[in-house]
Amino acid sequence: MLYIALVLGYCLALFLLMRLFPALRNWDNDVDAMMNEMRKEFKEKEFKSIFEIYKSDYKSFGTLNGWDRVPEEVERCSQLKHQTKKINSGHSLTIEYCPACKYYFEIDSSD
Ligand SMILES: [Zn+2]
Repeated sequence: MLYIALVLGYCLALFLLMRLFPALRNWDNDVDAMMNEMRKEFKEKEFKSIFEIYKSDYKSFGTLNGWDRVPEEVERCSQLKHQTKKINSGHSLTIEYCPACKYYFEIDSSD
């Protein structure tokens, strides 16, 4: 209950602050617009096929099966707990990519 009261109080204070300072409010709108832009971009980066990834500006790390060790970017990505996505080509080839780090690699499951 106390927590809810605190949150409500915080919102009210923020609301009053924005009423007092129109500049702050504009800044808030800018952030909103930026967030929307980011969300849109994120959505666009949901690849429908592996060819879209090949055509994109994503960095390729080749095939996972051929790695001597995990690339630094991929290591850091998993440390940051990013949600990577996978696309299956329909054969034994799968592409895994991270929309946040903008890289991809292939996974060959035929062997
Ligand atoms: Zn990542």
